[in-house]
Amino acid sequence: MNGSRPRKSLAGRTPRLGVLHIASEAAPWAKTGGLADVVGALPVALETLGHRVTTVLPLYRGMALPGAEIRPLEITLGTRRWRGSLHVLAQGATRRVVAVDVPEWYDRDGLYAQGGRDHPDNAERFAGLAQAALNFTQDDGDAGRIDIVHAHDWQAGLVPALIRQQPSRWTRVARAGLVMTIHNLAYQGLFPKDVVSRLGLGGDMFTLAVGEFWDQLSYLKCGIASSDMVTTVSPSYARETVQPEFGFAFDGVLHAVGDRYVGILNGIDTSVWDPASDPFLPARYSAGDVTGKRHNKRALLEHFGLPVGDDALSRPVIGIVSRLVNQKGCDLVLASAEPLMALDATWVVLGTGESHYETAFKALAARFPSRMGVQIGFDEGVAHVIEAGADLFLMPSRFEPCGLNQMYSLRYGTVPVVRAVGGLDDTVRGYGPRARRANGFKFHEATPDALLRAMRQALRVYHRPDRWAALMREGMSDDHSWGPSAREYVKVYRQARYAAAQRWAE
Ligand code: ADP
Repeated sequence: MNGSRPRKSLAGRTPRLGVLHIASEAAPWAKTGGLADVVGALPVALETLGHRVTTVLPLYRGMALPGAEIRPLEITLGTRRWRGSLHVLAQGATRRVVAVDVPEWYDRDGLYAQGGRDHPDNAERFAGLAQAALNFTQDDGDAGRIDIVHAHDWQAGLVPALIRQQPSRWTRVARAGLVMTIHNLAYQGLFPKDVVSRLGLGGDMFTLAVGEFWDQLSYLKCGIASSDMVTTVSPSYARETVQPEFGFAFDGVLHAVGDRYVGILNGIDTSVWDPASDPFLPARYSAGDVTGKRHNKRALLEHFGLPVGDDALSRPVIGIVSRLVNQKGCDLVLASAEPLMALDATWVVLGTGESHYETAFKALAARFPSRMGVQIGFDEGVAHVIEAGADLFLMPSRFEPCGLNQMYSLRYGTVPVVRAVGGLDDTVRGYGPRARRANGFKFHEATPDALLRAMRQALRVYHRPDRWAALMREGMSDDHSWGPSAREYVKVYRQARYAAAQRWAE
């Protein structure tokens, strides 16, 4: 397909690309999950490869960009007008972040929801983000050329669609290659169809070829249908999501994208997630010398108020850091709670999410106070200490676009036990009689029994120190840095540019 070949400049070097990212989260400013980690790290990796990158995201409550240049912003959606500002911060010669400050939309608790309920004006809030990003490109005199517009998830899905629908309005990006990345297909940005006229989104937005999805408007579909290239965050998830079982009714839409739909495994930020330099850890360690891990294990048990005697320290600790939602297989853990608690292991759980899961995990810890510690909340530091102090890390996801925690675990010598789906399947090489270079344990069926069998197998191997050390070594030597993934994105960008040029030639 699109046999685009990088064009060489006169000097014989591949020209730099100007890339504009639009997303609702980016670490370190705003994070609820893996999306933020990706949007935080990918621009840095692209800059390292020589490209110019600007990232646009909302300015949420409590967020600040000290030293940013403030530019006025006016947004019109339908008949309503909002005033705000753009906070433009240079992070180096070729990397910038732009925070969209419209207090009425973003200065509130919760990025997308509060008290378990979606904010009622999410359609406006993220149509506004799209328009703010496009306004920025029009007024950004010294920005240089934008070759690629890269939208992330439904919150940015209107961006490629507006560029396609209104090329004479958004002239600075009209000919750019358009790329849409799906970080999680379960979130589709579905709104009643009247938002199209209410927000003045334009006549063609609500058509089957663009954003109409079962009589609603899907911002994600708008983005997919309007982009030159569509990516998701692992090769397995790309294959899975064109099947009905994992497609959330989007399998047909993605099937139609054909070979313009590709999976690129996320990297991890290896400067943040490095056991040799991690400031959150009581003791640092590396693949060459893992003795510090035991110290972290003790600190972890102490943090959770669990026993720390010799007995406890020789017993394996199983860690979970997760959003407590159905996707993550919380129900599988709870359904097998009795036999899991009977295993000779200690559990530490950090997470937030659906209140019934939070309650159930807290109740389990209350029943088995010397076997399970639970912390409900979002705590970056404790997440790091779990990755370092646990012996095993459990991710029994029902589906998993990529998953980052299993990669952090591998790097921290904490052996992952995962369900073989999506990115978990791509990054974990399961232990078994014929396994080569195993770095963890995998199970296939989404059943409590399959999970329990995998845990039992893992704990048997834990008591074979030589085999366990080999598993840890394998994981710690895997390369999950962003470099290789960023190069894959650059290939996709060049394909998108080529496709955009062809669109304009037609
Ligand atoms: P998802 O994006 O589906 O939540 P990922 O594994 O891709 O799952 O990324 C989750 C990210 O959020 C990881 O960086 C993980 O450490 C972090 N995380 C999730 N829950 C918590 C929590 N309660 N406290 C701290 N970090 C968390």
